[in-house]
Amino acid sequence: MLAITTRWHKVKELKSKLKIDDIKKTVYRGTHTIRFAMLTTYVAVTLVALGIMYIYNIGILSESLYSENTVKLYAKANIISQSASEIWESDDENVMYMRAEAIFDRLLAGTNIRGVLTDSSYNVRYDTNIAADMVGKVFMRDVLKRAVDGEQCDSIIESDSGKTLTVAVPIERDGEIVGGVYLAENMLSVTETVNAIKASLVLFSALLLFIIVLISIGTSYIITSPIAGFTDVARSISKGDFSKRAKVDGLGEMAEMGQALNYMCDELNALEEKRKNFVSDVSHELKTPMAGIKLLCDSLVQAENPDIATIREFLTDMSEEIDRLTRIINRLLTLSRLDTGADLAMSEVDISALCAGVIGSLVKLAGEKDIELSYEKPQSGNVLICADYDKIYECIYNIVVNAIKYTPEGGHVVVRVTFGEKECIMEVEDDGPGIPDGEKTKVFERFYRLDDSRARDTGGTGLGLAITKEAVLLHKGTIEALDSPSGGSIFRITLPIPQSGKETNL
Ligand code: ADP
Repeated sequence: MLAITTRWHKVKELKSKLKIDDIKKTVYRGTHTIRFAMLTTYVAVTLVALGIMYIYNIGILSESLYSENTVKLYAKANIISQSASEIWESDDENVMYMRAEAIFDRLLAGTNIRGVLTDSSYNVRYDTNIAADMVGKVFMRDVLKRAVDGEQCDSIIESDSGKTLTVAVPIERDGEIVGGVYLAENMLSVTETVNAIKASLVLFSALLLFIIVLISIGTSYIITSPIAGFTDVARSISKGDFSKRAKVDGLGEMAEMGQALNYMCDELNALEEKRKNFVSDVSHELKTPMAGIKLLCDSLVQAENPDIATIREFLTDMSEEIDRLTRIINRLLTLSRLDTGADLAMSEVDISALCAGVIGSLVKLAGEKDIELSYEKPQSGNVLICADYDKIYECIYNIVVNAIKYTPEGGHVVVRVTFGEKECIMEVEDDGPGIPDGEKTKVFERFYRLDDSRARDTGGTGLGLAITKEAVLLHKGTIEALDSPSGGSIFRITLPIPQSGKETNL
């Protein structure tokens, strides 16, 4: 029963290794987390992009609008300065005023630009803002001061009424600075333009953000919707139902994940199926000798005054049944040890001596059936391989015992060892009944017997070849049943020769 428990533990172990419950929870939580992460990422990236676009565009726009206006204002100031230089009359203020008025009117009429003309002592000669009543008074501004010092300059003044762009240029006459022109233009229209563009940018950004949120919700649903299917499958697995399969028509990685999940379901299904069959086979195998023992016991109890010979006969039969039970249980224990991945006690094994040892121990058995048991040594002489001596011994032993068991009296059994470049091949050939093609792989299944009653009669448990196969697989080797030219069968074990394996001519 240990083997059944081991199988069941394997299923449980596989389940726990896969952490199905955890996968389920993670996948379920993961779906929402992925959607949230995708949404926040999209929104964050969009916000950053829009922020950069907003700051950059508004900066460039206002800078270009201000510099364009500054250039225009300078151009006007320079024309006025040029004209003023030609008409400069420092003595007669009235004449000067009228001439200046004509110049300023020509250039500034219809604009909201204030123009002031001063002499080099900052006394106002003309001011377009008549209401300010500055004519004849001192008009002191930083830009104007610097203009009278011979420099063209501009500045932006911020006040409650908004931004004002001011420029001042000197007036030169005969190489001498005689005054300055000061122009001031309210930048309300520029501010309004910038604000209007800011408003439309914000509106555009909000609209774009809304569209991106919708798209990200859509795409995150498309991407994560297969995960919901996976969750469903994982949930079924955790309940022991391996029949559900995930859809594998999602995007690349999702499809791969679905395929992996479905593969896992197939494996679990197959394992579960095997476990069920194994439990039922074991029960059946154990039930038969138990029923025999029970029958013998009951018969003995019911027999009136049985003589000692009868009692001895019944007890002998019972002992045989118990032997059979013991054999089955021992083989199940061996299988269970192999199933749990028993460690191999690897060492250098003289395969020739090993085969000779097996033959030596079975010569008597073969002799009882008048079977000729022979050994064909490898061409290259004695050969060392790296293997677990006991396990390989048991493999060859099982196959040779079978060959003797199933070969009729007077037959032949040959044990043969040959060496390839990278493998050691051990063959056991007999001229017995052979194994039909359809059964050649099945004979390695647990409790599988070709002829059930005959095999039982020969004391077969149906586990010998299964044990042999597990041991060979542990050595990373292969085992196969083939047809022998004589009509019998050949069992061939191929073991890879590891690095340490070498041929020697001893
Ligand atoms: P058993 O203990 O019944 O022999 P095995 O696992 O060793 O169990 O073998 C499984 C079955 O394979 C046997 O019952 C027998 O029917 C078949 N078999 C094994 N070896 C041979 C052989 N050399 N020739 C014919 N049939 C064989």
